[in-house]
Amino acid sequence: ASTVKIFGVRFDNVTLEEANKKFIGFMGNERLRTIYTPNPEIVMMAQEDDEFKVVLNEGDLVIPDGIGIVLASKVHHLGLNDRVPGIELMDLMLEYCNRAGKSIFLFGGKPGVAEMAAENIKLAHPNLNIVGTRDGYFETGKELKILDEINEKKPDILFVALGASKQEKWIHRYKKTINASVAMGVGGALDVWAG
Ligand code: UDP
Repeated sequence: ASTVKIFGVRFDNVTLEEANKKFIGFMGNERLRTIYTPNPEIVMMAQEDDEFKVVLNEGDLVIPDGIGIVLASKVHHLGLNDRVPGIELMDLMLEYCNRAGKSIFLFGGKPGVAEMAAENIKLAHPNLNIVGTRDGYFETGKELKILDEINEKKPDILFVALGASKQEKWIHRYKKTINASVAMGVGGALDVWAG
């Protein structure tokens, strides 16, 4: 599929269904694949943060989360067709995991949020395996301990909710260390699932 650059951020020109297909293609791979879902606010954030822009542009699947991105594309005739909300892609990913009996790890949010989200995800997707949860507030220096915790559980998917740009930078920094097929930055999605 083609890609489109909006204010220097490269997006995959995909529909929700195509994004889901790409995700399914990532599953079972040895090398970690990364999924980011920038909205207009995040694209603006990247204008003032070159490191963040590089991280986003090295994502394996980058979807336009927000009509503002699609509108910017239309104004500049860049050909990006569809808005692909990250939360909707996450839903399809959870459905896939439920069908295929895959495992996930939820990392991020205030203490208790990931656990509560896990309970609600489990109710909606009983066949999916939630192998671990961890809140997103930790002292610097604890990163390797957290990675050990995650890798011990060998999740198929790691969902990271540390807010933008922290979550994308974290995934990028530990890309070679994370023992999973897919890592995705999900912002406030765990709060949504926690209810
Ligand atoms: N968060 C976290 N650790 C941090 C900062 C934020 O776990 O150091 C969590 C926060 O609790 C929330 C999520 O990241 O669940 C998204 O945060 P925010 O709404 O600030 O980010 P955005 O929606 O802009 O991505």
